[in-house]
Amino acid sequence: LLGDTIGRNLDRAIAAHPDREALVDVPSGRRWTYAEFGRAVDEVALGLAAHGVRKGDRVGIWAVNCPEWVLVQYATARLGAIMVNINPAYRLHELAYVLRQSGVEMLIASTEYRSSDYRAMAAEARADCPRLREVVHIGDPEWDRLAADGAALDAGYLTAREAELSCDEPVNIQYTSGTTGFPKGATLSHHNILNNGYFVGGTVGYTEQDRVCLPVPFYHCFGMVMGNLGATSHGACIVIPAPVFDPGATLHAVQQERCTSLYGVPTMFIAELGLPDFASYDLTSLRTGIMAGSPCPVEVMKRVMGEMHMAEVSIAYGMTETSPVSTQTRRDDDLEARTETVGRVLPHLEVKVVDPTTGVTVARGTAGELCTRGYSVMLGYWDEPDRTAEVVDEGRWMHTGDLAVMREDGYLAIVGRIKDMIIRGGENVYPREIEEFLYTHPKVSDVQVVGVPDERYGEEILACVIPRDPADPPTLEEIDAFCRDRLAHYKIPRHLRILSGFPMTVSGKVRKVELREQFAASAG
Ligand code: ATP
Ligand code: MG
Repeated sequence: LLGDTIGRNLDRAIAAHPDREALVDVPSGRRWTYAEFGRAVDEVALGLAAHGVRKGDRVGIWAVNCPEWVLVQYATARLGAIMVNINPAYRLHELAYVLRQSGVEMLIASTEYRSSDYRAMAAEARADCPRLREVVHIGDPEWDRLAADGAALDAGYLTAREAELSCDEPVNIQYTSGTTGFPKGATLSHHNILNNGYFVGGTVGYTEQDRVCLPVPFYHCFGMVMGNLGATSHGACIVIPAPVFDPGATLHAVQQERCTSLYGVPTMFIAELGLPDFASYDLTSLRTGIMAGSPCPVEVMKRVMGEMHMAEVSIAYGMTETSPVSTQTRRDDDLEARTETVGRVLPHLEVKVVDPTTGVTVARGTAGELCTRGYSVMLGYWDEPDRTAEVVDEGRWMHTGDLAVMREDGYLAIVGRIKDMIIRGGENVYPREIEEFLYTHPKVSDVQVVGVPDERYGEEILACVIPRDPADPPTLEEIDAFCRDRLAHYKIPRHLRILSGFPMTVSGKVRKVELREQFAASAG
């Protein structure tokens, strides 16, 4: 395990290869070597200090992906401040909630993006947040002034701050995706996230030769820990393809920057593979990447490993509360491991699978609630000790809320979320199994399965289908005929909804809870 703070770890990378690239922003064409990146980080850190940011202060970042996001990440870490990641899709109500909940003193925000006016929303939120002293919009004159103001402090200032810092202090409040409800602010230390990035990057074999394309949002741990920290802790380069996910811009960035690694949730890879001009991109520089967040259909994995040249792509499983990654597939794992499992436990972490009602560890091969323990478990939910105690027990085990099976061979399989499990007539039904099966139907492009209330069985199975051809969607009769004799009768969908899209979180996960609510009343 690394005993460093994030700042000291960055200093090591700068000293080891000052002239290698650290960060590339494809949309603006700007690029930084490690030496330049270190100077830019210090400039922002001194600017924040000049504006009163001290150790332990909360600095919010509410922005789409851009180089300044990354600079603020490392600058706040250098100062011992706590960066609060705020989802750029949040609007006034959610922004004000997060600012108040975490007590943000200074907010760094985008100016505008597409139809979102971050200036107007931030100004309005401010009226509601008395602790918030200052808002600086990236690209505005105030942003440049920040750096200029920092020049008044001498260079020894940051060294002195760094010397006061311990790696166990909080550096980050990351709100969970909000897939199952309102997001919770996981408070994470330098030790938590630096080590997680380091081990995740180690599993995929990063060196200073690697160039990592990150279309995933930085505000989420996938981008900022597995991406940014995963790359810099091994001296690799961060490549930003676009401010928000765009499949064409992503493949363009891979081609132009000769990226060796590409990240995404499965829906992002599906969108890239589905581009009409997919075959025109040169993706031969890719060798690896990370796919995480939700299960990947087998067909998609085959194409990613073949047509996208990512033969070593790694599947990672984790959650914001555990920094995030707990298990990962390794470079030489086979297709079966990558689609049926989420790999093996990362070094220095423990997992156990327990009966959710009794807490007793179940036998290998049996489904139960996954619990994890080790350096990665969060300090707690910010200012919510009761909610923390609901998930982290006295033994420091994190209860993940996910159902998993530990196989005999040490590979872990995720069965689903406890909250998504359907109980139909006393039978436990896992949506993922039915979804995997329905993906193989020729008229199905994407599918989500949820439980809806049913008088007779308690819950009944509803399939929400995005058809391949909107003009020719499958009928319930066709789905039924397809499933009969191939799925147990109680797993066959009794209701069907044809949709053009699913409600999603910004990190690209389907909000099953919304599908459930939307169709609960109208099933039939
Ligand atoms: P919230 O906790 O706010 O409802 P969330 O759980 O989606 O949202 P995250 O911390 O971003 O927030 O996601 C962690 C969850 O994502 C895990 O608990 C698990 O359910 C799911 N997950 C992560 N990786 C995988 C994977 N490889 N396969 C299946 N599910 C995964
Ligand atoms: Mg969660």
